[in-house]
Amino acid sequence: MGKYDVIVVGGGPAGSSLAIFLGKKWRVLLLEKEKFPRYKVCAGGVPACIEEILPIDFSSIKEREFKTLTFGWRRKRIRLEWDFPVIFTVKREKFDNLLLERARKTCEVRFEKVIDAGDGWVMTEKEMYEGKVIVGADGTGSLIRRVFGLSSSGRWVKTIEAEIPQRRDEILMEFFHTGYAWIFPKSDTVAVGAGGLAGLSSPKKMFEFLLEKEKIPRPLKVYHWAYPVFGEKAEWVKGNVLVVGDAGSLANPLSGAGIYSGIF
Ligand SMILES: Cc1cc2nc3c(=O)[nH]c(=O)nc-3n(C[C@H](O)[C@H](O)[C@H](O)COP(=O)(O)OP(=O)(O)OC[C@H]3O[C@@H](n4cnc5c(N)ncnc54)[C@H](O)[C@@H]3O)c2cc1C
Repeated sequence: MGKYDVIVVGGGPAGSSLAIFLGKKWRVLLLEKEKFPRYKVCAGGVPACIEEILPIDFSSIKEREFKTLTFGWRRKRIRLEWDFPVIFTVKREKFDNLLLERARKTCEVRFEKVIDAGDGWVMTEKEMYEGKVIVGADGTGSLIRRVFGLSSSGRWVKTIEAEIPQRRDEILMEFFHTGYAWIFPKSDTVAVGAGGLAGLSSPKKMFEFLLEKEKIPRPLKVYHWAYPVFGEKAEWVKGNVLVVGDAGSLANPLSGAGIYSGIF
């Protein structure tokens, strides 16, 4: 049985970035259930300020960089412009893989699925590990959050998204009464999607509205995903256990963005 100062469960942006920092000082084990690179449904919009937080060169995996953001509300459009890139887009399989590879430099990474955990231990399908601190960075359905009885925010966002081959030059965030829809251009595709609070909105209607309004061809394949966003009911710490990223309901409820808040 391996003994560690910190065991991080989940190798998404929240888990890998935490492991990068903690691994400089402590003995850290990161456990990830999927073989990387792995697909993750996401528009892939990353605020450029992330480059000031993480000691990583993202240039090889940036799809596009943007100095403008366009926001839509009914028939109005507001275009904000900067004289430097404020956001870049990525394909999550590449972005997450880069972070995980970087984490390997400061900590031990094992591709094993965690199936149970308790006070000071974590069990995978293969082995049991001891950790003084356990971090749940295991995303939406977080086993760590559930096992240790930490509450999620209870505020779930339902989304629908597709990657469509098309070239576009602007990021668009279109807001509705009960949610939002987006277009995030990548190098050879656009991520088009919509999301809103579960029970209050219909992401499908907003998605179809945006496709029609922007004259984007109907996708062959769409992905549906739900995740918790920030809310006062969320709990992050219990004893030596901490949950971060989607496991800790840290995504922004207004935009659904969770990469920056997971890393920060
Ligand atoms: C359609 C859509 C579009 C989005 N667009 C954006 C965007 O443009 N910008 C933005 O900032 N955010 C966006 N988000 C939100 C963003 O994707 C998430 O907030 C972000 O991925 C959270 O990162 P994380 O590391 O917490 O979780 P994840 O990225 O989900 O990583 C969790 C990891 O834990 C692993 N894991 C799970 N269970 C176990 C286990 N039992 N044992 C071991 N490993 C385990 C998983 O395999 C996974 O690799 C979007 C979300 C959706 C659904």
